[in-house]
Amino acid sequence: AGFTVAIVGRPNVGKSTLFNRLLEQRKAIVDDVSGVTRDRQYGVADWNGKSFNVIDTGGFVSRSEDVFEREIRKQVKIAMEEANLLLFMCDVATGITDLDAEMADILRRSSKPVILVVNKVDNATRQLEATEFYSLGFEKVFFMSSMSGSGSGELLDEITGQI
Ligand code: GDP
Ligand code: MG
Repeated sequence: AGFTVAIVGRPNVGKSTLFNRLLEQRKAIVDDVSGVTRDRQYGVADWNGKSFNVIDTGGFVSRSEDVFEREIRKQVKIAMEEANLLLFMCDVATGITDLDAEMADILRRSSKPVILVVNKVDNATRQLEATEFYSLGFEKVFFMSSMSGSGSGELLDEITGQI
């Protein structure tokens, strides 16, 4: 029960780094019980006196494009079924890839609200580069560095504001 947020996005954008950051206040309650859930992690985050469940999707990385595709479809399916809010994470260091664009198309058609989170915005140059992500057409866009934590407060305010 409770409000659930799923982090989706192609491998290496920084989903697990954000997941760990969101959970750092409370020690990670990682549920890794069955084979079915082995590729995702569950935890609970606290912010401003509110709690919400977080799902980190896509535990494996493969170099094969068709495996990427399959993984992305699976992630989105899980997220759409289980989450109240989707965080679609992209990576400013690589810019918008074909897979990002494809995933954006799927997510725009979802009935669940989506927040675009542009990650690895570590410095001023990357802040400028990050504006290209507005072209993906999401109303809510947040820029952050999961590694340093910059921008995470604004994102958490937005998430808890939706609970
Ligand atoms: P995932 O595959 O989407 O879960 O991505 P990970 O969280 O495993 O991160 C992939 C790589 O990106 C790791 O080497 C992280 O240290 C790095 N990374 C994550 N967030 C940031 C960030 O904000 N800035 C930078 N420069 N690297 C990051
Ligand atoms: Mg990961």
